Amino acid sequence: MKQKYWYDYLWIASVAYLLLGFFNILFAWLGLLCFFIPLLLAIFGKDKLYCNRYCGRGQLFSLLGGRFGLSRKRDVPYFLKTKAFRYGFLIFFFIMFFQMLWNTYLVFSGAQDLRQVVTLLWTFRLPWQWAYQVETVPLWVSQFAFGFYSVMLTSTVLGILTMVLFKPRSWCVYCPMGTMTQLICQVKHQEK
Ligand code: SF4
Repeated sequence: MKQKYWYDYLWIASVAYLLLGFFNILFAWLGLLCFFIPLLLAIFGKDKLYCNRYCGRGQLFSLLGGRFGLSRKRDVPYFLKTKAFRYGFLIFFFIMFFQMLWNTYLVFSGAQDLRQVVTLLWTFRLPWQWAYQVETVPLWVSQFAFGFYSVMLTSTVLGILTMVLFKPRSWCVYCPMGTMTQLICQVKHQEK
């Protein structure tokens, strides 16, 4: 049996993150680690080190789809693998991300009230007011947390959907973070 290391259990952190955001939305800020660590590892570390070793979300999809048999294990449609789709999705993701930052700014400037909702799939506004537990922090801090949790939950739901329909880690084919780290690695290799 393959020896297990601490980083083989990072899927637990991914599950814990989603659960914590259900109880207190401020935990959503921890998700920034999943943004900065992959980028830093791609810039300064070995190629795709984060994806291959440290991504708890990828591990979670492998576990659910592999060991728990929740995946149909079909090939992903060809269009999902194309550069046009992957880069298009990355751009779309960025636009949505900046819109989330803009909403945070509007709350910061007082132009908009805090929205205690989590937006799933950029469309469905789910009431999430029970997770607004700490009212002493500035409103924009909470607004960012609601927005960022929406991003994380949306990508997890998309990942689970594609895991069920196709192979366990099909999300990795078009994951914006995977596309970004791949781009960074390509640029690094061109410079050599
Ligand atoms: S492609 Fe995305 S989900 Fe897959 S391992 Fe890399 S960062 Fe994680």
